[in-house]
Amino acid sequence: MLCPFCGTKLLLGKQTVKRSIRKVSVYFNNVPAEVCRCGEVFIDERIASNLSYVLKRLDVEGKTYLVVDYNDVLGIIQEDDEISVTKETLLIGAY
Ligand SMILES: [Zn+2]
Repeated sequence: MLCPFCGTKLLLGKQTVKRSIRKVSVYFNNVPAEVCRCGEVFIDERIASNLSYVLKRLDVEGKTYLVVDYNDVLGIIQEDDEISVTKETLLIGAY
């Protein structure tokens, strides 16, 4: 992929991405991203939605900021997947 701003080929890398929820800054470390030497950072749509998914589930109560590793984020998403599978199975069992 080429940078839409300067036309340079993007490089794959790991970035720290800042998001905020309820006035708390959340820093996600090691987020896979495509980076341009002009400073633009592009994050895959799927990864961006993973981040917002986890963001809503973080306990930010009483904190001013949080630092989260993206590798831990993946663990949370997979755990939730297992839960939804169980629910589906239960529904099928009820009929
Ligand atoms: Zn660029």
